[in-house]
Amino acid sequence: MYPKIHFPVNELNKIQQLIELGGGNVQHEILDTVEFRGYRLPLYLIKVGAAGPDKPALALTGGVHGLEKIGTQVILAFMESLLKQLTWDEGLKEELNHLQLYFLPALNPAGMMRKTRANGNGIDLMRNAPVDAEARVPPLLGGHRLTTRIPWYRGQKGQSMEKEAVALCDFIRERLFPAPFSMALDCHSGFGFNDQIWFPYAYSKEPIFHLPEIFALRNLLFETYPNHVYTFEPQSRVYTSHGDLWDYLYMEAKTANRLFLPITMEMGSWLWIKKNPRQLIQLLGFFHPVLPHRLRRVLRRHLIFIDFLKNAVRSYGNWLPDKRQRKHYELAALSLWYES
Ligand SMILES: [Zn+2]
Repeated sequence: MYPKIHFPVNELNKIQQLIELGGGNVQHEILDTVEFRGYRLPLYLIKVGAAGPDKPALALTGGVHGLEKIGTQVILAFMESLLKQLTWDEGLKEELNHLQLYFLPALNPAGMMRKTRANGNGIDLMRNAPVDAEARVPPLLGGHRLTTRIPWYRGQKGQSMEKEAVALCDFIRERLFPAPFSMALDCHSGFGFNDQIWFPYAYSKEPIFHLPEIFALRNLLFETYPNHVYTFEPQSRVYTSHGDLWDYLYMEAKTANRLFLPITMEMGSWLWIKKNPRQLIQLLGFFHPVLPHRLRRVLRRHLIFIDFLKNAVRSYGNWLPDKRQRKHYELAALSLWYES
C-alpha cells in the first residue's frame, strides 16, 4: 500500500479512495509517474479479482486526453459499483476468477491538471505512436508536427514516445497479449452528437484482420441490448489520423498472432452543448456534461455497456466466429462498413 497523497486532480484522489474501498479484492501499482508543476503524478493500474494470466483480459482506460475527464469518471463509476458489489455478490467474485479485469483510469494526469487534451509536454498521446496514416488526414485534427501550441501535436519525428504512451503500451504487451483473448475499452468524449464505438484502424481505410470478430461483438451488443445508444464503426469512417496508440498495439498483437481487440468509446458531447449552450463558454464544458443531472445520466448510461463488455470478454468462446463463420461475418461486415 502506498501512502495516501492529496493531488490537485480530484480523479487521482478518488482512485486512492477506491483502492482503499477495494481492500483485498484489488491489486494496484503505479506504472510510472509524471512530473508536472512540482507534483509527481502517478499512472495508476488497478486489477480487480484474482484471475491468472491464462484467463481472458479486459482493460478499461481513460483520461488519455486531459480535458475529457468524463471518460475517467465513467470508469471510476463502474469501478465503484463493481467494488461495492464484490462485498456481497458471490457470483461476481467467482466470475472474476475467470476474467482479468484491469483499470487505467487516468493516463494523462498532467493534462487533467492543466486542463488540456495534450500531456504536460504539449503532446497528444493519441497521436504519439509511430504510425503514419495511409490516407490523407483532416488538417491538424489528424495529427501534426507544427507546434505544441495547437492541439493534436504528435511530437517530433523520430523522437521516442511519451512516458504515458510507453506505460500504456508496455502494460498492454505484458498483461493483455499473453491472454487467450483480450480487449481494451478506451473512454473519450468530445467528438460528434452520438455516443460512438470505434474500432481500428484510424490510420487506414482498410479493414482489420479481425473484422469478423469485431462484427460478432457488434451483433452480440445489438441483439443483447436492442435499445443501446451507440453507433458502431471503424474509426476511419469518421476520420483518419496519425499516431493512434490502438492501431499501433493492434498491429503489434496481430504480428505476434495474438487476439487483442481494442475499441474506443467516444461520448458525443456536442449533444450536451446543444442542450446547454452555456457550455460553450466553460472550457471543460466542451468535453464534459456540466449540469449534475446530465452528469449522472452520462455516468449511468455507459455502465451497462461496460458490464456487457466484461461479460463478453469472460465468455468470448461463446460468440467468437469459428473458421467457417468467419468468411460470412467478413462479407457482411465489409458490406456494412467498407463499401460506401
Ligand atoms: Zn479523446
